[in-house]
Amino acid sequence: MGAPPLDKPSSSALSANSLSEDILLVNAYNPLPEGFYPENLVNLYKQKGRSFQLARADIEISENVYEAMNTMFTAAKTDGAEGFIITSGYRTRDEQNAIFVSTTDGTAAMPGTSEHETGLAFDVTSMENDNFELTSQFKWLSEHCASYGFIIRYPPGGEDITGYPYEPWHYRYVGKEHAETIMASGLTLEEYLEN
Ligand SMILES: [Zn+2]
Repeated sequence: MGAPPLDKPSSSALSANSLSEDILLVNAYNPLPEGFYPENLVNLYKQKGRSFQLARADIEISENVYEAMNTMFTAAKTDGAEGFIITSGYRTRDEQNAIFVSTTDGTAAMPGTSEHETGLAFDVTSMENDNFELTSQFKWLSEHCASYGFIIRYPPGGEDITGYPYEPWHYRYVGKEHAETIMASGLTLEEYLEN
């Protein structure tokens, strides 16, 4: 395990150029290159000492993101917030294509434009309420995710910029420094990378 590749030393000055090199931006206008494959994927089910639950046994994510997730959900447990269930992580382009063609309401991302294809994002739910936003787990996660390098990638009111309605269940790893700045600012990732 090396240092998380997306994290920067806290003392570094950030410029617009260094930001866009640091953070992989994926959206309808910035598709992943053909044949993109994230390095260091791990199967979450096989991780010993995992501090969260899984909806399926075949969910993968980048190893540094798993480490950050596990640290985060361990801290949540210490705070009395338990019952996080991961429902999705890395998706291959073929898997995203299958979702895209089977979703008729226009909400699924085109293959190549889903953050799930980066290995840097996960979806989470809990048994407490079908609407994750109303759960105690969401309350903890939304307040603390930035400290562990995660952002709510599709915040409320950001639809015109991100192309997505509010998704309280979708978290993207960008590293602690970026995440804290983004979540404190209320900016979308797109706006942050332009500034
Ligand atoms: Zn998602």
